[in-house]
Amino acid sequence: MDSQVISLAERVRQIKPSPTLAVDAKAKAMKAAGADILNFSVGEPDFDTPSHVCDAAKEAIDSRFTRYTPVPGILELRKAIVDRFAADHGWQYEPEQVQVSCGGKHGLYNMCQALFGPGDEVLVPAPYWVSYPPMIQLAGATPVAVPLAEESNFDLDPAILDRYVSDRTRGIIINSPSNPTGSVFSGATLAAIGKLALERGWVVISDDIYDTIVYGDEPLPHILDVDPRLKDQTVILNGVSKSFAMTGWRIGYSVGPKHIIGAMNKIQSQSTSNPSSIAQKAALAAVRGPQDFPVMMKEAFLPRRDRIVEALTAIAGVSCVVPKGAFYVFPNFAAYYGKSFKGKVIDGSVAMADYLLEEAQLATVPGAAFGADAFVRFSFATSMEIIEAGMRRLREALAGLS
Ligand SMILES: *Cc1c(COP(=O)(O)O)cnc(C)c1O
Repeated sequence: MDSQVISLAERVRQIKPSPTLAVDAKAKAMKAAGADILNFSVGEPDFDTPSHVCDAAKEAIDSRFTRYTPVPGILELRKAIVDRFAADHGWQYEPEQVQVSCGGKHGLYNMCQALFGPGDEVLVPAPYWVSYPPMIQLAGATPVAVPLAEESNFDLDPAILDRYVSDRTRGIIINSPSNPTGSVFSGATLAAIGKLALERGWVVISDDIYDTIVYGDEPLPHILDVDPRLKDQTVILNGVSKSFAMTGWRIGYSVGPKHIIGAMNKIQSQSTSNPSSIAQKAALAAVRGPQDFPVMMKEAFLPRRDRIVEALTAIAGVSCVVPKGAFYVFPNFAAYYGKSFKGKVIDGSVAMADYLLEEAQLATVPGAAFGADAFVRFSFATSMEIIEAGMRRLREALAGLS
């Protein structure tokens, strides 16, 4: 008998592969084929993992710390996370309120699986991180995008929330500083979200993965500082990927109410069991050790941010909000949409990012991937030389459109 084409589960049809990883793959393939690509698409620090962290991993291997660990992660690491939360924020948690997962992304996935299901709606401020809507959809629930305006620096306007809230709203995802905008939610915005969450019993997911990369001296407002009662309704996502340049190690952590973490552990026990024992020891060195590495990275990112913002805003028709955190900038190129090159019309961010990649060898990520088509994301976790050269190419490429 001939072989059959096996059909796939319906849920796969609803989602697309991560577009950020797709652009990165295309840029790397072009580079491998000899193209002189300047890569602004990567979502990771351009620093190496610090030595004391690598040494802890070597020590874990040498001492044969190579077996299964408890599902939620080793107790030492969960205690270190609890201690860091107390030292950095004054928040009190128990190790039972912490789950260590295979990267921050996996923590968010576990959260969505534990919290949401068919009929549920989850508010996702847009521009949003690419993976929030598909993760909500994979749980059977519906993401509801709440638009953030460039004019208000991508802070959420609580007055518009009414339009997006329904009886089915179960929660909201906050990502401050944000990927892709670098923007931070104000204390007033968080207070308004917190008030609604308390009134309506929403869960608040606070993705704090960029909380060590905040520019300027103002303290970063946080939902937990709005009202102590919100602690019972909030799950925090963090990890070492961005703060310690450990994206490949795959360690993230979630902190929240015991019953939610317990449900996430049930899911993790039936899927990945535990994150890598070796990577957990490395993360322990990062979380428990000196905290100067994230500060050093932030100080290195700041002049790059200033330079890329200056170069972008100097281009006619381009506007760009100054990022307050993270290492992304999200310029608005809508003034160039409708123009064309060699008869091909640039009709949106996907066409723009394609044009920049093919004609200027600039790898970026189209804003459509983040639910905001007027924009294109540039990561400035790259060298000043690449920023200078990239901005020159960008100016020429945009001038070449008619
Ligand atoms: C990078 C990132 C994460 C976590 O990434 P992991 O590599 O899975 O730890 C989570 N949220 C946002 C917004 C990110 O940019």
